[in-house]
Amino acid sequence: EKRKLKRIRSIPTKTLDGTLIEIHANIELPQDVEQVKESGATGIGLFRSEFLFLNRDDLPDEEEQYDAYSSVAQNMRGLPVTIRTFDLGADKNHKIGNHSTVNPALGLRAIRLSLVEQAMFLTQLRAILRASVHGEIRILIPMLCNDYELNQTLQLIERAKQSLSDNNVPFGQKVKIGGMIEIPAAALSVEMFMRKLDFLSIGTNDLIQYTLAIDRADDAVAHLYDPLHPSILWLLAHVIHAANRAGMPVSVCGEIAGDIRYTRLLLGLGLRQFSMYPAQILTVKQEILKSYLPNILPITQKMLKSEEAEKIHGLLAKLNS
Ligand code: PEP
Ligand code: MG
Repeated sequence: EKRKLKRIRSIPTKTLDGTLIEIHANIELPQDVEQVKESGATGIGLFRSEFLFLNRDDLPDEEEQYDAYSSVAQNMRGLPVTIRTFDLGADKNHKIGNHSTVNPALGLRAIRLSLVEQAMFLTQLRAILRASVHGEIRILIPMLCNDYELNQTLQLIERAKQSLSDNNVPFGQKVKIGGMIEIPAAALSVEMFMRKLDFLSIGTNDLIQYTLAIDRADDAVAHLYDPLHPSILWLLAHVIHAANRAGMPVSVCGEIAGDIRYTRLLLGLGLRQFSMYPAQILTVKQEILKSYLPNILPITQKMLKSEEAEKIHGLLAKLNS
C-alpha cells in the first residue's frame, strides 16, 4: 500500500473529471521540509512559526528568524511557502509581555497579541520580508476579526518594508498577504477581507471551536466538536463560494483538510486547495484521484440543505461510498 501511494506522488492531483486540485503541506519546524518533499506537495500552505518560542525564555531575534524562514524558502526551490505570523496564546503557550488572560481562547492571542507587542511583530515581519528574496514566500495572518486589525496589520507590513528600504536591506517587493478565516465573524464578513488581501486560508480547527463554543482542547466536550454541524457547512460554503466567485485563492488548512472522511465534502463545497500534514498528503491525493465531481455536487447540495445530523451523516456516507 505504501509503495502504491509513492507511485502517485509525482502525478498531478486531479479528480476523475479532470479538475485540478492543489495540495500544500502544513509544517511546524524548518526540518519538516524533508517530509514535504517526499509527499509531493506543491508548496507549504501553513508554516506555523510558534516553534521559535518553544522551550525558552528569550525572544527569537531577527537574524534567527531570518535564518529559519530562509532555509525553508531555499529548500522549497521556488514553490510557495506560506509563513503564518505568530499565533501565540490560547493553546500555544508563550511568555511574552505580562498579559494576564481571563479566557485565553477569547483573549489576547495571535494577531491581537502581535498588534499589542508591535516591536516583536515588526521583527518577525522584517525577517519574513528579508527571507522572501530566497523564494516564493507569502505572509498569513492568524485570527483576524475586523477591518481595524487588518488595516493596522497592513500598515505594520508597510512600516517593516519602509525600515528595510531605509537601511538598504533587500527584500521581496511582491510578497502576497493572506488572512486566516477562523473566527465566525470573519467568515460572515469575508467580502471585506477579500478586498484587502491576496488569499484566504480557512482554519477549521478554530472556526469549529468558536462557532460551536466547544474548546478544541477539552476532552469533556470533544464529542460535541462536530465539523458536520449545519452551521459549519454553511460557513465553509459561504467563504469558499465568495472566494471562488471573486477569483481569490482559498484553502482549508485545519485538520479536516487532511482527513479523507471530508475530502469529497470539501471538493463538493468548491474547495480546490488543501493544506495538511505531509503524512496525510498521499492518502488524500488518492481519494481525490478517485473522486468524480458531477456525482459529488448534488449530494453536497443536499447536505447543505439538511438540518439533522443523522441525515447529514447519511449523505456523507453516500458521498464516500
Ligand atoms: C486552524 O485553526 O484550523 C489552524 C490551522 O490553525 P491552528 O490549528 O494552528 O490554530
Ligand atoms: Mg487556528
